[in-house]
This record gives sequence, structure tokens and C-alpha cells, in this order.
Amino acid sequence: MLLMTKPCGLRLFQQVQIKTASRLGLLPPYLFAELDRLKKEVASKGVDVISLSIGDPDLPTPHHIVETLKRAAGDPINHRYPDYEGLPRFRNAASDWYRRRFGVSFDHQREVCALIGSKEGIANFSTAVVDPGDIVLIPDPGYPVYYSGCVFNGGEPYFLPLRKENGFVPDLASIPAEVARRARMLWLNYPNNPTAATVDLSCFEDAVRFCLKHDVILAHDSAYSEIAYDGYRAPSVFQAQGSRECAIEFHSLSKTFSMTGWRVGFAIGNAQLIGALGKVKTNMDSGVFQAVQEAAITGLEGGDSDQLAAYCAIYKQRRDLLVGSIRALGLECEQPRATFYVWSKVPRGYTSVSFTERVLKEAGVAITPGSGFGNGGEGYVRFALTVSSERLVEAVDRLKALRF
Ligand SMILES: *Cc1c(COP(=O)(O)O)cnc(C)c1O
Repeated sequence: MLLMTKPCGLRLFQQVQIKTASRLGLLPPYLFAELDRLKKEVASKGVDVISLSIGDPDLPTPHHIVETLKRAAGDPINHRYPDYEGLPRFRNAASDWYRRRFGVSFDHQREVCALIGSKEGIANFSTAVVDPGDIVLIPDPGYPVYYSGCVFNGGEPYFLPLRKENGFVPDLASIPAEVARRARMLWLNYPNNPTAATVDLSCFEDAVRFCLKHDVILAHDSAYSEIAYDGYRAPSVFQAQGSRECAIEFHSLSKTFSMTGWRVGFAIGNAQLIGALGKVKTNMDSGVFQAVQEAAITGLEGGDSDQLAAYCAIYKQRRDLLVGSIRALGLECEQPRATFYVWSKVPRGYTSVSFTERVLKEAGVAITPGSGFGNGGEGYVRFALTVSSERLVEAVDRLKALRF
């Protein structure tokens, strides 16, 4: 920053040494920045880059949700500061949706909190529960906010590798006793980003047993619960016995209703944990724009179930297309039952990054290197199904020409 040291236009400036918090130095080098640069470089040569690297639905928010926003935006009552924890009607709609979907009831006054997108909740919840020196158990590969939320608050990450042979589920039995003793929180995320793995309720039952035994908070990120295929219904942690004693679950309208830009989600669960999150929010943010909450209520009330089913059918068609085609090219991948990702091994002789770079430079197709989600993602890449089938076909045709 340049500070003027003398008034009166003497133009004497002094260079000031900017110091930022040391916690910023704890973040890993931002791998995606280099890939963004490469993507721009490729595009600047006139290549029409097909982006399969973005976890952001291309399908629009359902019409009636947009209409509710338009109406609500005109009402002056919505122009004022919203409550931190969300409108009672929003929280009620969230707990009703939750009860209909998972068969578990929550008190919307004490056990639900509105979020400005679940990313906000995940970060602020870490501030609410992590003390310096606490261990946070983090899946690797995983959504980067679990890690930054941990280290920003002085926590110590302990990575739980997600391995193919374990169905991309952490092996809790392998956690050393001393680590379990110091652990404050365990993060889980199913259906999973980036591996697209899904679980049955027994996974959450095991996790709840582990958490109750070791006094650990179970934090479950449920962002993809509704993006599922082939009749698969993702479970909630609260269907597992004992979970109310130790758990919180983060839900997002972003993927379910194609609303990533709107920033709305909610946390649900143990009243003490919800209360702690609310305390942080009261001090850090000012709640979700009420007109967005009104629109979210419209979505949660469920008038668009046909449209959401149609969206899942579109993702499924893309999944079938991509999985079939890249397997034919010799890439090894599971057929996911949920999420709009395909997690694929890289061909022999490549790392996540070297394969990603070659595909981008020579085929003009952007994918995500698994190592960008942690060392446990090395050897994999993630394809996102967030482009039309026509573009997917084009992408696959270009990959075919590479011969890896
Ligand atoms: C997209 C995503 C989220 C949610 O994002 P918001 O838009 O902030 O609700 C949370 N976790 C994972 C793993 C995601 O992929």
C-alpha cells in the first residue's frame, strides 16, 4: 500500500511493508491458478476450450423459484437486514423438507440455521468448534474448506485417505488412539466430491459410533444428496442412531435446485452445535437476503419435483455417455450413483497434473487434477457433467485423437 506521508500535494510517497496473517501461509499452493492460466493461454490461441472442470450446474434455476424471487425483491420488508439464523418460515420449510425426505424431525427454532451457501456454514462452523491444537479429521481428497476451516482456527488436520479398495470411505479403525483422543471433529461428505462415491447408512452408523466413543463432532456435508441416479437415495447422518448427540449436517440448495449463484443453504442438527454456529454468524455475517429465502422456500416446498427429476435424468444421460466413452478409451472409472462428477484414474505414465495438462493443451478439454483436492487424489482426475451432451461428445472425440 502506498501512504501519502505529506499533505498538500508534495507527492512524497512511502512504501509500506504489508504484513498479512500467518494463517494465509498455511494454505497449500493454489494448483488451480496455474491451470486457469494455461486454460486462458490455450483459449487465446483460438481453441474452443470445453470445460469439464467446473462443479457448477449449467441447468437453470427452476422458473417458479425465479418468479418468487422477482415478487419478493419488490417487497420493502425484504430490503432490510435479515436475521442471522434465517426467517422462521425458511427454517420451517427446511425442517419440513428434511422430514419428508429423511423421515427425521427437527425443531426449526433451535435445530436449523440458514446459511449463505453451505461453504459459509462449513467455514464458520470450524470457527465455532476448533481450538488451537485440536485435531480435525479430514477426508483426502476432499472439499478444500474442511482444511482451511481447520488451519485458519489453529487446528491440526489429520488426513483420512479415501481409497478405492475401501469404496472411498475413510478407515476409522486405522486412526491411532492418540489422534482419536485429540480429535475435535470428523468431516464426511457423501455423495462425495470429488470421488462421486456414495454410501449406505451403515457408514454413518460406524461414524456415529466412533464419534460418540471419542467425543468427536460429526460434521456431514450433504451438498449432493439429491443429485442421484438409478433409484439410489442418499441417506442422512440423522438416520443413524445416536447421531443427534454429536452431529450437524450441511445442506445446500446450490446443486439440488441449480442455485449456486443465489447463496443459500442450511445447517441442521444438534441444538448446541447449531447454537455455536449461530454465535459465530452473529459476529461475522448478516444472514441471507430475505427475497432469496422466500425463493428457497418455494423450492423446498417441492412444487418442482418433476423438474428436479428431469434434471437428474439429464445428468444421468451425460454420465452414461461419458463413462461409456472414456472407458472405451481405456480410462478406469466407477459409474457414479450420485453427484455430477466422474472420478477417473489417469492412464499409466501420467500424474494427475501431467494428464490434465496434456488433455488441456492438446485436446482443449479442461478437467480437474485429483491432486488439487489433496495428495490422496493423486493418480485421478475429475470430469464434471455440467455441459450439454453435444459438448461431451465433442470432448470425447477430441480425447480419442490423443491416444494415451
Ligand atoms: C458445491 C459444494 C458445496 C456447497 O456449496 P454452496 O454453494 O456454498 O452451498 C459444499 N460442499 C461440497 C463438497 C460441494 O461440492
